[in-house]
Formats: sequence, C-alpha cells, structure tokens
Amino acid sequence: MPMSYDNDNIFAKILRGEVPCEKVYEDADTLAFMDIMPRADGHVLVIPTTPARNMLDATPEQLAACLATVQKIAMAMMKAFGAEGITLQQFNEAAGGQEVYHLHYHVLPRHAGERLRPPGTMADPGVLKDHAEKIRAALAS
Ligand code: AMP
Repeated sequence: MPMSYDNDNIFAKILRGEVPCEKVYEDADTLAFMDIMPRADGHVLVIPTTPARNMLDATPEQLAACLATVQKIAMAMMKAFGAEGITLQQFNEAAGGQEVYHLHYHVLPRHAGERLRPPGTMADPGVLKDHAEKIRAALAS
C-alpha cells in the first residue's frame, strides 16, 4: 500500500514557488529543472505539477505526461551536449532509492565510457545555469 503524499516535500515547495529552481521547461502538467547534485552534466528532473508520491500512486495520465516531457528533454539533451545516449532513472520508496517524495524522473545525458558521478555533490549555480541555457536553446530550436 503506497504511503500518502507530503505537501511539504521540496519539489512541492518548488512547484509553489517557495524554493527556487533552474527551470528548463514547463507545461500545464509537468515541470523540468536542473538537479542541484547532478550525476552527469545536464542532469534534469521531470515532475508532474500535480501531487504524486511516486509511480505507485501516480495516475496513468501523470505518468504519460511525465514521459512525454522526458522525451522532449532527452532529445534536447542529445543536441545540447552532443550526448550519445540518455539514462532515465526513477526511484520508488526508500528501499527503491527514493529520497524526495514527489514523483520524478532523472534524465541524464551520457557519453560512451563516462561513468555517472557519485550522488551528493552540489553543483556550482553558474554551471547549472549554463547547462540549463543549453537545454532551453535546444528546446527552442
Ligand atoms: P531521489 O529521490 O533518490 O530520486 O533523489 C532526489 C534527487 O533530487 C537528487 O538527485 C537530488 O540531488 C535532487 N534534489 C534535491 N533537492 C533538490 C532541489 N532543491 N533542486 C533540484 N534538485 C534537488
């Protein structure tokens, strides 16, 4: 049985505008922004704008909207970073590796032979802004 949604999770605060984020894309159903501890250059999170703790309580519509945005971002990343591939990660509950309890997809640009960095290192805000700008430009072109 999935646990309930916590309105005070950090992504809910981002959605309410109480906490800033480096936004790359938004539509009525989804928001995409830079992960502050990127495991690869250009690491983006895609979330639904409506509450869902994770995949276990999300509606098919929330999942579909997120994946449509994931695809847009992934294609923009291929262009923005000359990526050779994309890794998509999504964790459910603590045992599944989830730390923030609002459904999110990690979209990671990949290059052959480059491993993901270990989690937990904050990025320089200027670097995040630069990477976001590249993705926004690719989305607009
Ligand atoms: P997980 O729940 O394990 O998928 O991990 C949550 C992810 O959210 C991690 O990659 C964090 O770096 C990221 N994160 C946490 N707080 C923020 C924030 N305020 N802005 C952007 N990313 C965040």
